[in-house]
Amino acid sequence: MTQIERVTDDIYVFTSELYAQVTAGVINTRLGAILIDTLPYPSEALEMKDFVESQLSSRVRYVINTHYHADHVYGTHIFAGAQVISHELCRELLSTTGVESLAVAKAESSELASVKLVLPQITFEGGSFRLRLAGKTIVLNHSPGHSKDVISVLVEGDQVLFASDTVMPVPFFPDGDIKQLMKSLKGIHAQSGDITNLVQGHGPVILRGEVASYIERQMTYLKTVDKAVRQVLKRKYSKKALEKTDLASVDIDRAVLGGLAEELHWGNLETLYNRLKRYVKPYPSRTG
Ligand SMILES: [Zn+2]
Repeated sequence: MTQIERVTDDIYVFTSELYAQVTAGVINTRLGAILIDTLPYPSEALEMKDFVESQLSSRVRYVINTHYHADHVYGTHIFAGAQVISHELCRELLSTTGVESLAVAKAESSELASVKLVLPQITFEGGSFRLRLAGKTIVLNHSPGHSKDVISVLVEGDQVLFASDTVMPVPFFPDGDIKQLMKSLKGIHAQSGDITNLVQGHGPVILRGEVASYIERQMTYLKTVDKAVRQVLKRKYSKKALEKTDLASVDIDRAVLGGLAEELHWGNLETLYNRLKRYVKPYPSRTG
């Protein structure tokens, strides 16, 4: 089941009601539709396909994979005949890690039995890639940090930005890098005045007036997490001391993303602790 929201005349956002409010987008043109991600379950991708064909009397020409994570790409095989576009790193990750995790996922969920991985036919390396279709220009920008292959997608003119998982209610970097994520968020913040709708990889669409402050809160969250972990390491406290940095202390509602907030937040703290413990020097001991 998905929820459908129309954000401009020809741009729609789909939100999964089955898993973590993952989003996907449809940009319709008179020469066909461009999809941005394809939701976690084939049944949801089929809903998108039906919508494009019956409600918009269109067909899907292109599918953009914003990154290789399962919840964004498992519906891609439903759109046979469409050209799939991603960053080159996304293609690489799908063909390695992606293949292994699909085997595990299939063993866990019968709903995924029919899923086949599709390797993107069109990839780009480096900074950005432009796609033009029937007068619409879509700009794909490399936006690493959540994972190394993430791209954001800007619909020029409409100024709708699909930020993928660079922006989500709990910023999340265990499969990526906190510094890169901060840099990517800064990039989005710099253009926030020109964005009419910011579509997060998970959760609600952020409207024009709120984009800048929303991104600022995300950057504050990352700084707080980084500082908290460094303090614990400097004082040689155990990992358990991180529990003081709970969701309330970082101003995140525990109900967001269907209750996943706690898990994501703890994942961030623990990952950063494990990564930094070799580098952060403890304060000199008072007795020594
Ligand atoms: Zn992701």
